[in-house]
Amino acid sequence: MHNRKRFRWMLALFGAVALFSIALADRETPVAKDDPTKKLAALDNPQPRFWKGNLHTHTLWSDGDDFPEMVADWYKRHDYDFLSLTDHNILSEGDKWVDATTNETREQAVKKYLARFGEQWVEQKTQKNKALKDKLHVRLKPLREFRSALEEPGRFLMIPAEEISDKSGKLPVHINGINLRDVVMPLGGDSVAEVIRVNLGAVLDQQKRTGWRNLAFINHPNFVWGVRAEDMIQQDNLHFFEVYNGHPGVRNAGDETHASVERVWDILLAQRLGKYKMEAVYGVATDDAHGYHTFGVGKVNPGRGWVMVRAPHLTAEAIVAGLQKGDFYCSTGVTLNDFQNQKDEIRLNIKPEKGVTFKTEFIATFANAPLDSEPVLDKDGKPLTVTRIYSKEIGKVVAESSDLNPTYKMTGKELYVRAKITSSKPHPNPYAKGDFESAWTQPFLP
Ligand SMILES: [Zn+2]
Ligand SMILES: [Zn+2]
Repeated sequence: MHNRKRFRWMLALFGAVALFSIALADRETPVAKDDPTKKLAALDNPQPRFWKGNLHTHTLWSDGDDFPEMVADWYKRHDYDFLSLTDHNILSEGDKWVDATTNETREQAVKKYLARFGEQWVEQKTQKNKALKDKLHVRLKPLREFRSALEEPGRFLMIPAEEISDKSGKLPVHINGINLRDVVMPLGGDSVAEVIRVNLGAVLDQQKRTGWRNLAFINHPNFVWGVRAEDMIQQDNLHFFEVYNGHPGVRNAGDETHASVERVWDILLAQRLGKYKMEAVYGVATDDAHGYHTFGVGKVNPGRGWVMVRAPHLTAEAIVAGLQKGDFYCSTGVTLNDFQNQKDEIRLNIKPEKGVTFKTEFIATFANAPLDSEPVLDKDGKPLTVTRIYSKEIGKVVAESSDLNPTYKMTGKELYVRAKITSSKPHPNPYAKGDFESAWTQPFLP
């Protein structure tokens, strides 16, 4: 009996040790199996691919009507890979609380915020509002506090940014700084050109000072007719501007006395490449979204225009580098599987869609195009301070195609060639009624 007892006791002990070892082994399995020579998932595929992103968005940190995490969450759920929140003259940082009861939209925003992120996340307190009445307030979380809740390696990235919102007299001059470490306060200046020059310089100075690879672009030039082609042509540090902005108030299409933003692009390219021997300017498409609660034409909504950047990694530096190389295109709905310029042949590959046709226009300016200009005159013959009139040879359609693989063979006489693709599919929530989905490549140089 004594022996059997001891045997049972030993069996129990053996069992316990075995169980303990299994538990221990189990716990250690992931470490034991992990191969230190295997690359991290996000860095495993160095083959460059396209990443979808929006570089112009507002939140409650300035005049947007939703909380920053809610805005980021909207873009993530709509399959964007990266996003910059670009509030006016502020980075998403500091201690800021908003009145939860200002108006119906704010009340709706708070309700949706609580429903999506929960009471543990949303910080609320009662404090006096501007009229010194006790009101419920909600804290705006800084980017550094919420980014880890939304970002995923190789899937979703937030890039710190700001809309430097300056002016010259009454003319607005707005410039987005992307991948900023420090806020850039508007520096002002005696003219629109001067305001552009000093603010672009401030962003560049920050790059030199911090080592953060950043970039800047001029926003919505036609907003309040603020920025003319001539204000931009000779800017040394200008490499990007918005060729499409989804805010319905920005006048992308111009009017009878003002050039469209796309026309301004061709003027910039022709003058810089042809006359001043400067670098090209790349076009970006953005949302400039402010309103996230009611959707439709005339509303300032997200999801209208974006950039597709080719880069090996989804990091701020890789995205900025892809943009700086011009390895990207703009879209309001059309997807390109590929674009390339090899041996002076431009080849595009448009992603097909059932029941949809695509028209590709190759737009160029030849080296022999006249580059002089004359002013736009008012009805009394007095010159207007608007973008001047240039030759029709600037930004001319030189070829058209309805193929899914349109090509253009350069003759060697082009200063540049760019492509615009227009789909037969109406934009689901357009900038203006009747807009079709489209895409713009960057200028290809011979
Ligand atoms: Zn703006
Ligand atoms: Zn804006």
